[in-house]
Amino acid sequence: MIKKISTLLLLFLATPVFACEFGSVSFSADFDGAKLDRCEQLSPSHYLLHSNPENRPINPSPWYSFKVVSKNKQDVVISIVFDSSRPRYLPKISHDGERWQNIDFEVQDKKLTFSLPLSPGSLWVSAQEIIDNQDYAEWTERLAKSDGIQKIAIGRSTQGREMTALISRANGSKEWMLLLGRQHPPEVTGALAMLPFVDAVLSDSPLAKSFRKRFNLLIIPNMNPDGVANGHWRHNTQGIDLNRDWINFSQVETQNAKKQIDRIVEADGRFVFAVDFHSTQEDVFYTMPTDYGLSPATFVDDWLAELNKTAASSFKVRPKPGSSPGRGIFKQYFADTFKTHAITYEMGDNTERAMITHIANQSAKTLMQHALATLPSQFYKKGS
Ligand SMILES: [Zn+2]
Repeated sequence: MIKKISTLLLLFLATPVFACEFGSVSFSADFDGAKLDRCEQLSPSHYLLHSNPENRPINPSPWYSFKVVSKNKQDVVISIVFDSSRPRYLPKISHDGERWQNIDFEVQDKKLTFSLPLSPGSLWVSAQEIIDNQDYAEWTERLAKSDGIQKIAIGRSTQGREMTALISRANGSKEWMLLLGRQHPPEVTGALAMLPFVDAVLSDSPLAKSFRKRFNLLIIPNMNPDGVANGHWRHNTQGIDLNRDWINFSQVETQNAKKQIDRIVEADGRFVFAVDFHSTQEDVFYTMPTDYGLSPATFVDDWLAELNKTAASSFKVRPKPGSSPGRGIFKQYFADTFKTHAITYEMGDNTERAMITHIANQSAKTLMQHALATLPSQFYKKGS
């Protein structure tokens, strides 16, 4: 009981609570995923807001997300500065926190500026759509209602949030695939890809059912729940980039994931493939080179060629092979540990959302087909 209370207290303290009021307008960051550090009023209708990184040095992906509450109908101008970093994400607004629309804006001297016509009530402004810890909790809960899919706790984050995984077990098979997401909190288009991708592999389609009959799945959709809750630009609450920690395992988040992976390996499981979902400026699949000694050598190339043939022709499948030893990147850790392929699945920040969903569905489908067409022996090198 005492532990429970202290955990609750910790969560309460960790939830971002920030608000500033200026007569008829106020700005608040009192929700999971919010980010707003300071506000100033420059003129009766112009406000300057600040979003600061959790620590530096940092990859500049400035997150901002807040509510604007107005007492009356009025037009305001909002500028946001990012502690000398340039803005990365295009502003979006929502009246319900669910449906978002892009708005016009300009960038000058690293400052993002847009005007908002306000009505009495509140409006969300955010760098990207908000996919928060509650969304993951509800989504995993729903998926875990399906037969053969189990939701498990794999440990707690630095601030005590529960990290969860979904597991799908294939009777009598040792082959495992791993799907990973949200190491970097603001990379929402990666999450927008991962959710339908996972929905597809866990669906009731005949293909998905055959796939899960043969392949076990470990799915860890939200690697950085503290960063998500606190509106971080990139790191966890220890100021560490989790996708540089798959070598030292200095953080509880990567330790929790590794322990779960190790438990599977100790129980004789063999990891044959992994996907780690992210976002960047463009749609790109970071792959391991075909001559890196992984099995089967062309597994990913063949899959992506299939995706390229079957996806909408307006989408360009761009694989970028590369190896980056010693940097603590998940894909590298996985390939070096299991001698099988892993990719970093990157969706562009501004890729059309319908396209992200289409590519997620199509890549899940072609991956399942391609994996089923690959013999178990092809995933293992002789003698390994
Ligand atoms: Zn990333």
